[in-house]
Amino acid sequence: MSNSQRVAGRHFLQIPGPTPVPDRILRAISYPTIDHRGPEFEKLGRTVLSGLKSIFKTTSPVIIYPASGTGAWEAALVNVLSPGDKVLMFETGHFATLWKNMAMKLGLEPEFIASDWRSGADPAAIEARLREDKTHAIKAVCIVHNETSTGCVSPVQAVRKAIEAARHPALLLVDTISSLASIDYCHDEWGVDVTVAGSQKGLMLPPGLSFTAISEKALKTTETAKLPRLFFDWREMLRANAQGFFPYTPSTNLLYGLREAIEMLHEEGLENVFARHDRHAEATRRAVRAWGLEIWCKEAQHYSSSLTAVLVPEGHSADRLREMALEHFDISLGTGLTKLAGKVFRIGHLGDTNDLTIIGALAGVEMALHLAEVPHRAGGVQAAMAYLTKAARGELAVTA
Ligand SMILES: *Cc1c(COP(=O)(O)O)cnc(C)c1O
Repeated sequence: MSNSQRVAGRHFLQIPGPTPVPDRILRAISYPTIDHRGPEFEKLGRTVLSGLKSIFKTTSPVIIYPASGTGAWEAALVNVLSPGDKVLMFETGHFATLWKNMAMKLGLEPEFIASDWRSGADPAAIEARLREDKTHAIKAVCIVHNETSTGCVSPVQAVRKAIEAARHPALLLVDTISSLASIDYCHDEWGVDVTVAGSQKGLMLPPGLSFTAISEKALKTTETAKLPRLFFDWREMLRANAQGFFPYTPSTNLLYGLREAIEMLHEEGLENVFARHDRHAEATRRAVRAWGLEIWCKEAQHYSSSLTAVLVPEGHSADRLREMALEHFDISLGTGLTKLAGKVFRIGHLGDTNDLTIIGALAGVEMALHLAEVPHRAGGVQAAMAYLTKAARGELAVTA
C-alpha cells in the first residue's frame, strides 16, 4: 500500500492519549491568534484559569504551561523541593518510573516502593514507610492516579489518609494526566498538594498544554524550595495570572480549545462524563472476558475507566495484533510499554467517546485477534453490546 492511498472514514484513535479532538474544539483552535497582552486575551485568560478550577474541583490556583505533561511533572517537583530531598514514590508502572527517574536527575532522592505493575499504589505500604521516617526526611509522596501503562488506578484519598495516620508532614503530589475529566478527582477534598494534568487525554485537546493545581501548603513551601526553576516558576506565573495574563507567550490557540473543552464538559455534566467512562470501561472488560483474554489489572477496585490493558497469551505478540488492527481497520491501539512490550495492548476509552465508538473499536480488536491468530473466543463485541443495551434501557446495576 502506498503512503498516498486514501483511507476512507475516520481514523479510530483508541490509544490512551492523545485522544480524538472534537470538531468543536478544532474549530475553536482555528480562530485568529490575538495579542497576548491585550484586553481580549485578558478575558480568555481569566475564563480558562477560573474554569479549570471546576475540573480539578479546587478553589486554589491552577497553572497552565505550554508544555506536555512531562513539563508539569517537572514543575511539580522543582517548585516545592530542594536538592537532596527524599521523596517517596510508588512503582505503579512505566509512568511512575519515568517520574521517579526525573526526580533522580533533578538531584532529589526518590525512594521507590516496588510493585508488579498490576495494581494501584498501596496506602498501607506508604503509611508503614512514613511511620519509620521519624525525622521527617521524606518531603513528598508522589503517586500516579491512573497508571496509563497498566490501566490501574491508585486510591488517592486513601493515600492522603495514610499520610495523616502516620502524622507525617509530607506533601502529596499526584499525576492525573490520564484521569482528569475521565475519572472523578477532587484536588481540595482529597487533600492533594500538587495535581499534575495534561491536555491530550480526558480534556480532548491536542497535545501541548499541561496543568498544575496547587494547595495553600504547596504555595507556602515554594518560598523555601531551592531547586532552580525559571520557565516553571509558580511565582512568576501566579503574578501574571492574577491579571489574566502569562509571564511569557502562552499557547493562545490551544487556550481557545481549552475554553471550549471546559464548556463541553460542563454541558454534559462532570458526573455524567465519569459515568460514561465507567460504562465504556465495563463494556470493554466484558468483551475482554468473553474473548477469554486476561485484563492486566488484577483487582476490580483498581480498574481504570480511561483504558484497559489486555494480556495476550504466551507465545503471541500484542504488537502483531496492533499492526493487523491498524493495517486493516485503521484503528490505533496502545502499545505495551517497557517491560510490557509485546505482552499487552491497551484500549483507550477516554475522552470524546460514545457507545458506538467503543463498539467499533472492540469490533476492530476482535477482527484483528482473528487476523493475528491470537487464540480467543468469539463474542466479545456481542457481550459489550448486550451491556450497553442494558445501560440504554436503564437496567444497569452499577458494577465495577
Ligand atoms: C501521558 C502521560 C504522561 C506523559 O505526558 P506527556 O504529555 O507525554 O509529557 C505522564 N503520566 C501519565 C500518567 C500519562 O498518561
